[in-house]
Amino acid sequence: MRIDCKHVWEHISAYIDGEIDPVLRADIDKHLETCEICSAVLDSTRNVVVLIADDRVFDLPAGLSERLHKRLDEEMSAGPPRESLTE
Ligand SMILES: [Zn+2]
Repeated sequence: MRIDCKHVWEHISAYIDGEIDPVLRADIDKHLETCEICSAVLDSTRNVVVLIADDRVFDLPAGLSERLHKRLDEEMSAGPPRESLTE
C-alpha cells in the first residue's frame, strides 16, 4: 500500500505507542526512509511523548494534539514533501 504524509501523521501516535497494525507500521517505516518531513515530525512527536511520560502528565492531550496539528499544517504549507530524494 502506498501511503502519504497525511497517513503517517494520522497514525503517528499509534505508531509511537506500538498500537498499530503491523502492515501499516511497515508502510510507515518505508515512508520514513525517504521522507525527511515525517522523520522530523516523528522525532519531535516522540520527544514530546517522552517528556509527558516522564512527568506522568496525561491531562494535556487535547491542547497538545491541537498544537501538533497546527505545526503539521505549517509544515505542509511550507512546501511539498520531497519524497523521491533517493529513488
Ligand atoms: Zn512524509
